[in-house]
Amino acid sequence: MFGRLACLIGRHRWVPFTNPEVGAATQNLVCSRCGRDKPEFDPPGGGQATGLDARFAGSWHRFAAALPSFVDVTVGSGPPALRAAWLETVTAAAAPRTGHVIAL
Ligand SMILES: [Zn+2]
Repeated sequence: MFGRLACLIGRHRWVPFTNPEVGAATQNLVCSRCGRDKPEFDPPGGGQATGLDARFAGSWHRFAAALPSFVDVTVGSGPPALRAAWLETVTAAAAPRTGHVIAL
């Protein structure tokens, strides 16, 4: 019973399954509780993941173009800059428009 509830929230128990009519070359994963096929998010030769990457890249470029209008970016490097940025943030000493980019 609890296994079925876990499946409702996406916690499946994936086990290998081979279709005996086709053979081992087509082995995929199925849930031992509910029988659902595991979706493939990264199929060979591209697929859903490729589209996701393109949409994410588009969103990132639109965000980066709008960034200067609401964030003042400060650039730093190394652990001392990271520590300073962290202290500035946790003590609320940073101005609301301040954003940090730190190369480590
Ligand atoms: Zn399941």
